[in-house]
Formats: sequence, C-alpha cells, structure tokens
Amino acid sequence: LESRLLEANREPAITLDGEKVAIMANIEKVDEIRLVQDYSAEGVGLFRTEYLYLNSARMPSEGEQFVAYKTVAEALAPHPVVIRTLDLGGDKPMASNPALFPKESNPFMGFRAIRFCLENPGIFKDQLRAILLASAFGNVKLMYPMISGREELARANAVLAECKAELRAKGQAFDEHMAVGAMIEIPSAAVTADVLAQDCDFFSVGTNDLIQYLLAIDRVNDRIAHLYEPAHPAVIRTLKQIVDEARKQKISVSVCGEMAADPVFVPLLLGLGVDCLSMTPPQIPAVKYAIRSMAMGDARRLAAEALRMTSPKAILAMCEDFYRSRT
Ligand code: PEP
Ligand code: MG
Repeated sequence: LESRLLEANREPAITLDGEKVAIMANIEKVDEIRLVQDYSAEGVGLFRTEYLYLNSARMPSEGEQFVAYKTVAEALAPHPVVIRTLDLGGDKPMASNPALFPKESNPFMGFRAIRFCLENPGIFKDQLRAILLASAFGNVKLMYPMISGREELARANAVLAECKAELRAKGQAFDEHMAVGAMIEIPSAAVTADVLAQDCDFFSVGTNDLIQYLLAIDRVNDRIAHLYEPAHPAVIRTLKQIVDEARKQKISVSVCGEMAADPVFVPLLLGLGVDCLSMTPPQIPAVKYAIRSMAMGDARRLAAEALRMTSPKAILAMCEDFYRSRT
C-alpha cells in the first residue's frame, strides 16, 4: 500500500471522471517548505503563524515576521500561500505572557484569535504589515481566524486598509490585490455565510473548531472525544450551507481542518462542493489516492444521500463503505 500511495502522490489529484481538486498543505514553521514540496502540495492552504509567537515571551517584530512570510511565499511561488493571522488563545495559549492572556475559565469561548487582535491593534498591525510586505514576493493570501460575523470582518479589514495606507505613504511595495478570506469555524459565521461571502475573497472552513462549537464538544477533552462526530447531520448541513453561499458569490471554499485529511470524509466534502483541501503534508498521499479512486458524480450522490440521513453513525458507515469499495 505504501508504495502505491507514494506513486499516486506524484500524480495530480484528479477524479476518475476528470475533475481536478486542489490539495494544499498546512504548515506552522518556515522549515516545513521542504515537506510542502516533497509531498507535491499546490501551495499552503493554512500557515498557522502562532509558532512565531509561542517561541518566546515577546511578540515577533514586523521585520522578523516579514522574513518568515517572504521566505515561504518566495519558495513556493507561483503557488499560493494562505497566511492566517494570529490565532492565540483557546487551545493555543501564550502561557509566557499572562499579562496579555489572563487565565480564563472558558478559553475556547474567550479572548482569542481575531478578538485578541482587534483589541491589540499594535500587535495586529505588525503582523498585517509583515504579510502585506511579503505579498510583493509571491502569491500571498491572508485569512482571519475565528470570524463571528460581518462587523468583525469589517473591523479587521479596516485595520488592514490602514496598514496598506501606511505602506503606500512610505512607498513600500505590496500586492494591492492580495486576496483576503475568512475562516468559517464559528456557527454564527456559517449561519451568516451569505453576507460574509460578499465581503471576502474566499472561505476556509476550520472543521476542528466548527465541529467543536456546533456540537458543544470540547476538541481537546478525551472524555467526550467519542461524541466529536464529523458525520453529524448538523455538520454536513452546515458545510452545505457554507458552500452554497460561497457559490452564489462565486468565491472558493477550502477545508483546512482535520476532516479534510481523513480519506473517509474526502468524497463527502468534495461531493458537497468544496474546492480545495488543506492538510499536513504527510496526510496528502492517502487523500490523493482516495480522490484518484473515486468519481465526482458518485461523491455528489453520496453527499446528497448524507444530507437526507439523520444518524451520524449511519452516515459514517456509508462514507466508510464508499471509501472501502473504491480503494
Ligand atoms: C480548525 O479549527 O479547523 C483549524 C484549521 O484551525 P486550528 O486547528 O488551528 O484551530
Ligand atoms: Mg480553528
């Protein structure tokens, strides 16, 4: 199986009926560029930037971040690199900095990610300027984590506009057309996907958090891990709604949560209309193999059937049968 997987991995991710799927990589560190290339990913769908911050007690400077983002963008050009702004807090606390991140009784619903950035504009702007400056050296896209609604997205975009104006005033080059996306990982964002889709260039669905918040199942609590069900009808209906609203506004939808890396769920996601899957590089071969073994027409029928079903266990069993019968 191993050699079959690696062989398939050199081929493009095309279904038996000729549909191409974009497969991208999730990374956290600059030195993962090699992995992205070795596993033939078509760019980075999620650059988690927290690592730059978790390294030390102080915040990385604009210059330090610029070097990191530029290195990745330049190495992978013309492939896109989607840089996610800071997602500290929740499961990624900055323990070394209790002044900025006070202890909370419910960190997953607390002061994290875009909420933290909007209240710390100095830290946020250093990162936004670093990303903008790196955009002059490759195909850089930016996305905001944990967006809950339209006003928050507008506030983040207003800070981005300030940063652009500052760079313009100093004559510093950046990509004026850099795409800006929203992560859809909070139920309120999914429910208002129709309006969010009007204000951004792409969606990236963070299923790790989206499932956690939809099902009220703490993603890091082992005691209830068996209740964390990606095949829950609520998850599947929500994904369908996100994709449908994105389609109406002609923006793309990727999935960068763990669900995208599970070959059992890949036909379901693609059948629902997801355009792009992003995962850690070593997870790519199994996903590509699954895509090359299936027909998109069958995946669409699978998704339609899943949308009619009500039992998470039955939906999971159907997805497993689909996968097993083809690979
Ligand atoms: C997610 O929530 O699915 C996601 C991709 O982001 P993270 O796991 O970093 O929260
Ligand atoms: Mg998340």
